[in-house]
Amino acid sequence: MAAGTDTVYKLDLEDIIAFPDSAHVPVRPPIPGESWIIFGEIVQDNSFTRPVFLIRDKINCEFPVAFYTENPAQDAAACKIGHVLCITSGMRHQFFDGSNGYRIEDPSTVFVLPCSMAQLRALNQRLRKKSDAGEMELCDACKKPSNQRCAKCQTCYCSRECQTTEWTEGGHRKECRVISRLRIWNRTDWG
Ligand SMILES: [Zn+2]
Ligand SMILES: [Zn+2]
Repeated sequence: MAAGTDTVYKLDLEDIIAFPDSAHVPVRPPIPGESWIIFGEIVQDNSFTRPVFLIRDKINCEFPVAFYTENPAQDAAACKIGHVLCITSGMRHQFFDGSNGYRIEDPSTVFVLPCSMAQLRALNQRLRKKSDAGEMELCDACKKPSNQRCAKCQTCYCSRECQTTEWTEGGHRKECRVISRLRIWNRTDWG
């Protein structure tokens, strides 16, 4: 998948190279310049002596993700049922009980998007439609030419008024972090 730009959004969440599902996880570590994201919705909290979550990926395969970091409780604090957990260049691990999933050792490889899989897909579709229509640089609220951007996610606005309205009434407050991550993924060269 070729990388997009700030004005061309063409991220494909179904791409199995950038976003491998359970059937396509690489069996070797990434080479320099290469990376991928394992993602899925947190469907169950199985924490006992350490944080362990059951994740359902985009082909509905379920697998455990266990935190073996130095501060597991702190590193897993953002994990909420119904939200999307992402693992950078994750590789499969066989646990003692024979189950197969991901063992997190480096907390910087894991982050949680505050949305469901359905919401993530819907947001991605919205951004693609906006890009296909050539509207990435128009005001997200009123479609006028814009010269202001959300500092976090780069969404364009024509005025302070439109930005404030979108933030408070248009739902941007909830979507900003997810859009920000999607746009980073869009600009990423996955190698
Ligand atoms: Zn506007
Ligand atoms: Zn934003």
